Amino acid sequence: MSAPRILKPGDTIGILGGGQLARMIALAAAPLGLKAHIYAPEAGSPAFDVASAHTQAAYDDLDALSAFATSVDVVTYEFENVPVDTATFLSAIVPVHPGARALGITQDRLDEKTFVSRLGIETAPFAEVNDDAGLEAALAEIGRPAVLKTRRFGYDGKGQVIIREGDDAAAAFKAIGRHPAILEGFVPFEREVSVVAARSEDGRFKAYEVTENEHRHHILYRSTVPADVTPAVEAVSAEIARRIGEALGYVGVFAVEMFLVVEDGAQGVIVNEIAPRVHNSGHWTLDGAVTSQFEQHVRAIAGWPLGAVERLGRVEMTNLIGNEADSWHEILAEPGAHLHLYGKAEARPGRKMGHVTRIFEP
Ligand code: AMP
Repeated sequence: MSAPRILKPGDTIGILGGGQLARMIALAAAPLGLKAHIYAPEAGSPAFDVASAHTQAAYDDLDALSAFATSVDVVTYEFENVPVDTATFLSAIVPVHPGARALGITQDRLDEKTFVSRLGIETAPFAEVNDDAGLEAALAEIGRPAVLKTRRFGYDGKGQVIIREGDDAAAAFKAIGRHPAILEGFVPFEREVSVVAARSEDGRFKAYEVTENEHRHHILYRSTVPADVTPAVEAVSAEIARRIGEALGYVGVFAVEMFLVVEDGAQGVIVNEIAPRVHNSGHWTLDGAVTSQFEQHVRAIAGWPLGAVERLGRVEMTNLIGNEADSWHEILAEPGAHLHLYGKAEARPGRKMGHVTRIFEP
């Protein structure tokens, strides 16, 4: 590991991945006097448009990675499927935040749930599944309904299937490609919420208020803040994030996705997933908080003081998915609506093209 480094204005942040999250990190770096260098394999990556430099190369191209690492002052990433080997290779040359350990744990649903539950934080009951016999044993232990998920590379509901009473377990395993998997008890949640938080290398920590998230077709559709949760849930969620950040030795912004459950009339939360990066459910902070999650991430990885996380009103963030972004003109005409478009050339169904934030009086 390289020595801790405090950036100064004029320095360059290297970002692995060139999608909208990298684009918004680069945009947040600019007013702080920092430059961004994007590293992504795909031609025409949305973040290339707003960065002072970009490298289009594969994540295992060691020559390109070396050149990238020596041209930047810190490296971060916008998605959790950056190969751990890439992060490890880079971290021999330049600080990488968050570090390879946080990346490794959060890439694997089994490792992640094991890590969280060892902290004494509640998750759905879970078991490892490697073959049909293992799945039967896991179902006997956990019961039905249950959710079978690939350990790696799942997102937006991909690589997972619900196994209900009477369903053929072997067919479900086949449906997820018979990849190493985790079986989780189905959580009868009332709503889905998340907490976005930041931690700096010296342990300073700040969490935004809990965000309530509505999904459609497994994709985040709308986030609202404040969430309709009790003060106890607000406090517990921030504490969960603080403990996870601490235990990972995390540097940067991350999100903890949770299920809100109600038992005996009392609200509680169950952790579903950690995202080791800025998160879609934190986009509301761009216009609705004193410091956006993107600026906060830049501050954290630069070794700078974290910004204030206070909310500026009642905030609603709606994703523009596929051709929903075609209504950009009407949104622009709406007083107080903040439009963010990601500069993607093609509006494929299910593709996140932009988002709009609306702020209402508190
Ligand atoms: P994930 O890929 O783990 O974020 O899961 C995608 C979505 O599937 C979540 O946002 C939930 O709506 C649902 N889901 C995942 N795991 C469970 C579970 N154990 N119980 C109930 N619903 C789940």
